[in-house]
Amino acid sequence: MKYSGRTFQLSDIMAYCSCPRAFYYQRVRGMKRQFIDWRAVVGIALHRVIQTIHQERGYFSRPSVVGRLVGHFYHQAWESFYLRGIKVRGDGINSLEPYVEMLRGYMALEGNREAEVLLAEASYRFRIKPFRTTYYLQGSIDQLRRNRDGTLELIEFKSGRRRECSPFRLMLDYQLSMHAYALYRGEFQIEENGGWRALNLIPDYLSLYFLQDHLPYRRSGRKVDANNGKVVVYRKGEARGAALYRTTRPLQRLQSISEELGRVCAAIRRGEFFRRPNELCQKYCAFNGYCQAELERPCS
Ligand code: SF4
Repeated sequence: MKYSGRTFQLSDIMAYCSCPRAFYYQRVRGMKRQFIDWRAVVGIALHRVIQTIHQERGYFSRPSVVGRLVGHFYHQAWESFYLRGIKVRGDGINSLEPYVEMLRGYMALEGNREAEVLLAEASYRFRIKPFRTTYYLQGSIDQLRRNRDGTLELIEFKSGRRRECSPFRLMLDYQLSMHAYALYRGEFQIEENGGWRALNLIPDYLSLYFLQDHLPYRRSGRKVDANNGKVVVYRKGEARGAALYRTTRPLQRLQSISEELGRVCAAIRRGEFFRRPNELCQKYCAFNGYCQAELERPCS
């Protein structure tokens, strides 16, 4: 079976790059995900809370309100999965406190308080034709902001544990590349009547914002820094990191992004649905039951 569409969501690109076989189960065979981990549901809630506190700017001076907002949006997201018949795995409602703490850390930073949010959770679309076929891509950005120093910055929020954020790793990031291309050549749905508008922007920074960096260390110790392999010493009470990890997509790079994305789309259309075993297989892959059953099936 092949994927016959020519329209790709950002989530398709990310899912395929994470494991082509999991993409196949979900998007080609139409199999229902077996569960969603509660941490993914909290992630959805945190995005909504950040959007809300920037909309209602008074919330920045009332950090006590965050607990209620997190609970409210978590429940809302949980319910939307429940109504679609998807089981939420794990008891998230009793484990929300660290997430509330992360958001309080976010609200305490002057750079976040003073940023002017230009776009939040905004949908985009664009098309590419790097080879013979035209592909249509769609996605949405978390936040486009104007910083106090006048710089323009696109931010993608992450609620999970921080992964490697070396300059090279950030340079490779498909999600940031796709957002950058959309700002440069795509259209955003920002008109009140639902109309689409080209922005033709090249932001000064494209950034991943790891909210977990706002959680202080519970005890002192040392660890290996995933970005440079060096041993770092940390002390109890210190923040876990800088939270904001910046990169850029200058004009020259933007011109090659349609080819990079086109290669992923072409691989999907060719039906290259191989397995990509990774650390998520056992615990977090929502298709591991199908994957295992397929492997255990006797060969005919
Ligand atoms: S269990 Fe691992 S290899 Fe199998 S589909 Fe899921 S992520 Fe891919």
